[in-house]
Amino acid sequence: MSNSNESFANFDLVKRVKLDFTDVTVSKWRSRVTGLSVVHLDYEGALPSVLWATGADLSLAPIVNGYFVIPTEIFDDSGCPHTLEHLVFMGSQQYPYKGILDLFANRGFSNGTNAWTDTDHTAYTVSTAGEQGFLQLLPIYIDHILYPTITNAGFVTEVHHIDGKGQDSGVVYSEMQGRENTSGDLMALKMQRLLDPPGSGYRSETGGLMEALRVLTAEQIRDYHGTYYVPHNLTLIVTGKLSSGTQSLLQVAQDKIEPSIIKHHQDKGPRPTGWKRPFVETASANRQPIAQQVQEVVEFPEQDESMGELAISFVGPAPNEFLERKALDVISTYLAGSAVAPLNKEFVEIESPLCSYIYFSEDVRATRIDIPVYVGSVPTEQLEAFPAKLKVSLQRIADEGIDMDRMRVVINRDERQLKSRLESAKGDTFSSAVINDVLYGAEDGSELLASMDEMKYYEQLRNWSSEQWSTLLRKYYVDPPAVVVIGRPSAKLQEKLEKDELRRVEEQVKQLGPEGLKRAEALLEEAKDEHERPLPGGLLSTFPVPDVKSISWIPVETVQEPGSGRQVAKFASQSPSLKQQIDADGKDLPFFVEYDQVDSDFVTVHAFASLAELPNRLRPYVSPYLSAFFSLPVTRENGEKLSHEDVINRLENETVSYEVGTGMASTYTDLFRISIKVETALYETAISWLKDLLYHAKFDQERLSVVLAKIQQSLPELKRDGSTVLSSLCSNILYNERSTSRSGGVLSLTEFIPQLTKILQEKPDEVIKDFEEIRKYITKPNGLRFSVTGNVLSVSNPRSTWGKYFSLPPVPLSPVPSAAETLSDVGRKLSRTAVVMSLPTIESSFVTHSSRGIQGYDNPEYPPIRVALEVLNATESYLWRYIRGSGLAYGAYVSLDLEAGLMSFSLYRSSNSIAAFEEARKVIQGLVDGSIDLDQGTLDAAKSTIVYSVAKNVSTAGRAAVVSFTNQALKGLPQRYQIDLLEKYQAVTKDDVLAALRTYFLPLFESETSVAVVVTAPAKAESIGTSLKAEGFEVTQRAMEVDPSELEGSESESESRDGSEESHDGR
Ligand SMILES: [Zn+2]
Repeated sequence: MSNSNESFANFDLVKRVKLDFTDVTVSKWRSRVTGLSVVHLDYEGALPSVLWATGADLSLAPIVNGYFVIPTEIFDDSGCPHTLEHLVFMGSQQYPYKGILDLFANRGFSNGTNAWTDTDHTAYTVSTAGEQGFLQLLPIYIDHILYPTITNAGFVTEVHHIDGKGQDSGVVYSEMQGRENTSGDLMALKMQRLLDPPGSGYRSETGGLMEALRVLTAEQIRDYHGTYYVPHNLTLIVTGKLSSGTQSLLQVAQDKIEPSIIKHHQDKGPRPTGWKRPFVETASANRQPIAQQVQEVVEFPEQDESMGELAISFVGPAPNEFLERKALDVISTYLAGSAVAPLNKEFVEIESPLCSYIYFSEDVRATRIDIPVYVGSVPTEQLEAFPAKLKVSLQRIADEGIDMDRMRVVINRDERQLKSRLESAKGDTFSSAVINDVLYGAEDGSELLASMDEMKYYEQLRNWSSEQWSTLLRKYYVDPPAVVVIGRPSAKLQEKLEKDELRRVEEQVKQLGPEGLKRAEALLEEAKDEHERPLPGGLLSTFPVPDVKSISWIPVETVQEPGSGRQVAKFASQSPSLKQQIDADGKDLPFFVEYDQVDSDFVTVHAFASLAELPNRLRPYVSPYLSAFFSLPVTRENGEKLSHEDVINRLENETVSYEVGTGMASTYTDLFRISIKVETALYETAISWLKDLLYHAKFDQERLSVVLAKIQQSLPELKRDGSTVLSSLCSNILYNERSTSRSGGVLSLTEFIPQLTKILQEKPDEVIKDFEEIRKYITKPNGLRFSVTGNVLSVSNPRSTWGKYFSLPPVPLSPVPSAAETLSDVGRKLSRTAVVMSLPTIESSFVTHSSRGIQGYDNPEYPPIRVALEVLNATESYLWRYIRGSGLAYGAYVSLDLEAGLMSFSLYRSSNSIAAFEEARKVIQGLVDGSIDLDQGTLDAAKSTIVYSVAKNVSTAGRAAVVSFTNQALKGLPQRYQIDLLEKYQAVTKDDVLAALRTYFLPLFESETSVAVVVTAPAKAESIGTSLKAEGFEVTQRAMEVDPSELEGSESESESRDGSEESHDGR
């Protein structure tokens, strides 16, 4: 099968592919002895001119990534693939200890391991800073995947059990409880059942349906493991530069993985007799075109019945028709990729939108892929008719022909964005293409190149005629029938589900009887005890901690020009060579510009405007302003008048990306930020856009009403999400009306947007005047800072171009506004307040407790607190074991907001938030009083994890430049502050950590010194309130569907602070 004679010990080279548009080389190897496959995406980073770390052998992108992929086919809804994914992390033959894998991973400069289970595969992942930790971890990880213990005790806590109160619980069970009745899951399952015939693996809920999980056994999972988790069905995909190239990787596979597989008598070659390749050689491969139009309704529980959703599925080309797939991707961007795309203009960008988005997707499948279209927030009364309307539009677009000018813009922009992704992510850009090749590609690797050869397809598609595009559209979306699933909200179903669940549990309690409940509780306790078995002393130290010096950092050169007459920030570095280049370009500017130079093909210009002086009355306008920012008509500096469509078309044509928001990476959200990324040759274009968009946009009544209607439309969906509502409620309580982000949250928008819409209709001039006034504040010279990140050295006129477009008077520069200044009385006092909000769309609870932390980014007390945070938060560490491990919540973590000075403890999707809160207190108290030992291994792992997160944060040129700016211009820190701190963490002792826990963490669990905010299912609100009262809190109960007037002051933080849910089963 091999097309080359190259081999390395047991491994034969299956295929080597060198891409001609980027410096990535992909090689695929397979063991002729065990069938194990290894794919390495290797890249040559160009050596930067300056190397910070001496002795470093890696020049660029310090991160190595692994994806270990197993095609996992199943023909029922038992959830074996997903439950097995969880059990893999519970211990292996050689390392039979729960959590050991992550302790090792953390020591190796990683942030822990992760995994997901999709419909057709399970992937295990890990990323490390530097290669040493990665290569040390690899054989241990593979021992877990191929030879997990899958004990009964592991099944009990991690998959499913009944607790002492007769409630069903377990990590996977709770996870699926949070998912199963959401619109997304209900519609997806319905779609799967309609698309594929009985006998197909594609019909299955691989996550496990709750009723199936309740009867699943550990034995079933062991059987499943025995069939699919075999070396010939496992591919190790590794992306990143290794010091000795692919050989480093193969050497580990040969010396440390192959012998163990052979010992297990699994040396049966790549294709043992009887082996059938999942999906490709089974009944699942039988995928027929859709025979006739089908339209079915699925109800989902939702109090607000105004908006529903749609999934419309079509059948696409074969998985290896790559050009056709790329063409479908391009036409979908053409159709719905921006505000001026034809479908958006017709359905979204109107005063009564028919939906909030139309999204064309692709699910790769055997034989023929699926190409579903998702439509969000459709007014309920429009749901039935929508699919036909969409079809008419697509037909019309096909008949009228494609706008070839716009098509060129779409293709060029797509290509630029791919180049930009390649620059930052390198080989990782192709990870999903390689995973699909593992699943569906030719076994001889002959489709590998074609699956990644994207630039070639852009080249070919540039030559397509309008007729060819129309033909494509007709072939896949107009002529054939579709399967439509309508997701309809139902308040009744909400009540029914709750009642049914109560009745079921009652019945279960009755059946178990007092004896049965006791037995269940004993079983759970026994299982927990088994997990608590201590690690043998010295085991962790068998895994050496790599040297921090072995990581190389991307160099950034800075010049900060604060504006004539102003002081350069205390710690700002000034690179001589860059300074020379800038000094050669005209005279000093009267305003602030910082240049952060990295090696890149691109440059990004940013404007940061202070919102500190903005009148509070206008703060709620900021959200709609942000939404409208790039789609307003503009009169350019040269007098040219552009419609909003012209603006979007030009931006698409000239930029790589453009964005507007508040703050940077969730900090400094009282700054209004605009960022425009372009190829270096278009530097001036980017600056001129910055000027025109900021100063010369016209607040057009029609555009504003479209934007308001869109926000209004998206609210019901946001209001359904527990995390989104919690974050809004929290900032509502902790911050005052001077906080811009508080006014942009879902609770605030729910109140404000309808009001503003009304005024805009009745007195449009007043609203427009208000927006003009905001602009006046945003462009106040004392609050403006500009930034250039990227390849400054290669742009012409780096400084004088700013002077050409901006003339600002030399006034003193105001300080950067900080969140600490906008805390409410409750947020300052942090004592005894508790608010419980019931949200009908969720079944679990989302909770945040807040107390006083330390404030300021340069606070010297930070290092021990940071280590303490890692000690508690690490995968498989204390909070994980005590809370997630006993099925009390899907996530539990502590955090510190240095800007606001707040500590917090949060629970995500908790089945029992009070018990989880008590467990957290117990474990921290235990650590402090010494009844729970904080061992050296955990401490070492915590410190190593910090190395990973610091490295990750500056792992691409773009990020490194932005961090350099944020440090020096906003935080007033030295350029490499986080890297410099790494040594300080190493010096933190066990006693330092315990002192930090006592001083800063225990107050989170006392009502005297904390504030509790809870968003929960209505059925749980009362009992949670009662428990919090017993803790000494003064509890206020709220409900989501209250009268708007009662929501007075209930506003929120920006979207950027929301915890976002994993798209698919993040572990
Ligand atoms: Zn899971």
